[in-house]
Amino acid sequence: AREALQHAQKLEAVGKLTGGVAHDFNNVLQVISGNVQIMEHFYGHDPQAKGRLDGMMSAVDRGSKLSAQLLAFARRQPLRPTVVNPLRIVRNMDDLLQRALGDNIAFGVIAPDDLWNTFVDSSQLENVILNLALNARDAMPDGGKLAVELSNVTSGNEIAGIRSDLATGDYVLLAVSDTGVGMTEEVMAQAFEPFFTTKPAGEGTGLGLSMAYGFVKQSNGHIHLGSKPGNGTTIKIYLPRSMQPEMQTLPPVPEPTFGGD
Ligand code: ADP
Repeated sequence: AREALQHAQKLEAVGKLTGGVAHDFNNVLQVISGNVQIMEHFYGHDPQAKGRLDGMMSAVDRGSKLSAQLLAFARRQPLRPTVVNPLRIVRNMDDLLQRALGDNIAFGVIAPDDLWNTFVDSSQLENVILNLALNARDAMPDGGKLAVELSNVTSGNEIAGIRSDLATGDYVLLAVSDTGVGMTEEVMAQAFEPFFTTKPAGEGTGLGLSMAYGFVKQSNGHIHLGSKPGNGTTIKIYLPRSMQPEMQTLPPVPEPTFGGD
């Protein structure tokens, strides 16, 4: 618990700082972008100049995307938990995940039909799953397999890497495993730190796992990282079971149509 609190405090401090920096940084980018546009107007007919100016514009775009991500991080919304079934969430994301992973990564979901419900913020859970999948994709540049495995676990069963006194009760386990490059001990030790990344500048923000950690702790769950260089990575997320039924918001009933097929 102390460790979770320290992480939360660190995130809060980093969030405040980041929000300010991202905001000012964005203003600087706006000035550059405005001036580049004016220069395009004057020099855009010269192919040499146009190439350089386009290069500047795309760098400015990358910078704006980065600062938007940082701002989103700094302004993290408080969680709005509801009763959700993680299997339904994963199934809903199927298309999105397939597309994000591309053709050379095989993607599979394994789950029992009677998977328990949890009490979490569903859009944050989606974010976390997407981030884990994108990390897995980045770890498998030559292709591989990504498995999302969901199961019901009860305390008394061994919960990997988690002190048994913390892990009493029923949990839904969400395990995301890849066959990618894996992590060294050194990377594993820092992976949950905000802004820790091994990716080239502009490609990684170092916030994905940190946000996953924050989400899981705020949801009273547990997160465990298992990885070996060359042997892939498994991230296990334990979310407390909810005994309540999901409150389904049903899609609107379509207007009756006449004629047609
Ligand atoms: P980012 O992906 O932006 O770098 P994260 O916080 O999501 O930020 O991840 C931090 C670091 O942890 C990554 O840069 C990478 O070194 C390592 N990492 C995360 N997920 C994986 C994975 N599935 N396989 C290998 N390394 C990973």
